[in-house]
Amino acid sequence: MVIRHTDESHWESIPVLNYKEEGNSFRKITRQVLYDGTRELPCQVRYFEVAPGGHSSLERHEHVHVVFIVRGEGDVLVGSEVQRISEKDVVTIPGNTWHQFQADRGSALGFLCLVNVERDRPHMPTAEDLESLRRDPRVASFIKS
Ligand code: MN
Repeated sequence: MVIRHTDESHWESIPVLNYKEEGNSFRKITRQVLYDGTRELPCQVRYFEVAPGGHSSLERHEHVHVVFIVRGEGDVLVGSEVQRISEKDVVTIPGNTWHQFQADRGSALGFLCLVNVERDRPHMPTAEDLESLRRDPRVASFIKS
């Protein structure tokens, strides 16, 4: 089965969804589900696109992400490391690790994200979590919440 792309960031018959159903911890980001999981392969492949200046939620959870950057560039926080990312880079987000993607380099940032269908809900940082994250000056100047 082939799902044809219609332009750089859209596919035939795949709707463009809100990144999350609720909340305001993110900016200028959309979600498209390219593979929705089966009993034989119980994972989802989602395409997220962050418009220039946007970002994903700062969050952590038990489940793991494997992320393939397929468009543009930006930066990602993984744990206490902020790293530049661009097309063809692969980012693994281990369980229980703070992470946030930002399209902060003037272009959109598009990436495929692999997750288990059965997964825990993300946790957003508490005031105490933010205080502890901000003790690292590089993290402090990066994160948006
Ligand atoms: Mn996540």
